[in-house]
Amino acid sequence: MNTVQGQLPLEGMPRRLYSCTPSRLNAWLDCRRRYRFTYLDRPQPSKGPAWAHNSVGASVHNALAAWWREPYERRTPLTASILLTNGWITEGFKDAEQSGRWLERARDLASGYVATLDPSDDPVGVERTVATRTKVIAVSGRIDRLDRRGDELVVVDYKTGRRPLTQDDARSSLALAVYAVAASTMMRTPCRAVELHHLPTGEIVEWRHTDESLARHLGRAEELATEAAAADERYRELVAAPARKTPGPPGERQSAGPAEVPAEIDKLFAPSTGPICSWCDFRRHCPEGQAAAPDRRPWDGLAE
Ligand code: SF4
Repeated sequence: MNTVQGQLPLEGMPRRLYSCTPSRLNAWLDCRRRYRFTYLDRPQPSKGPAWAHNSVGASVHNALAAWWREPYERRTPLTASILLTNGWITEGFKDAEQSGRWLERARDLASGYVATLDPSDDPVGVERTVATRTKVIAVSGRIDRLDRRGDELVVVDYKTGRRPLTQDDARSSLALAVYAVAASTMMRTPCRAVELHHLPTGEIVEWRHTDESLARHLGRAEELATEAAAADERYRELVAAPARKTPGPPGERQSAGPAEVPAEIDKLFAPSTGPICSWCDFRRHCPEGQAAAPDRRPWDGLAE
């Protein structure tokens, strides 16, 4: 496979491999302050309450993964319903009535989806962790499902959100492209197709990468990693500096509020405000994000 390996080293490149997941790279891309809160500040700033739409998504993902672990004869829509019910995550809902209504919907999603599957067609992997490395990054992540179709592997990603998907979502996903490269490397089998399975509509959006488009995604991942690694290093230097405010007693959960943060760190990890700030777990620590987008209740992400 034609990757960007061999093009390096570049000036400013990190000396060590930057270990990451696609989520970490995307966090760096989306909002550096959120990246800092998520991956660097320790103790980690407290998060807001759980989101109900995440509870729905996680419950469905868990049920679908468990469904494939059942023996063949139990891979039925009813089993999907039972698995969903047994593993239902109740966090973030307004009340028991709302949670119950969404449990029913999620049961329909999961059982309706598995009714479209061939239970004898075992995937190569379910919630499978894959990893690959270049001269810059060691990247790993977990694939919802890895199928074999003919002589090739296909990366399958389940989506439960309300937004309809486009082919661009599949084409432009850094995570899916990285998973395809990693699966191909680990299994020594070509993997160029990535699919988004949108459970609410039953739609499957596919994109078939070329070696060149995969290499472009991997190159992009390396660029982001190079930037993030340099910022991480500077962060560690600044945090270790003697002028840094002394942390509280061991075990005390601190909120890394902006007042405690050296100005250079704040500049290095600047906020990127936008509508997404409404849904950011660290919004309570971010005055700019609060000003940029309205507060949302934990259940506001559900499509009523
Ligand atoms: S609220 Fe917005 S700007 Fe602030 S950390 Fe979160 S995503 Fe970034």
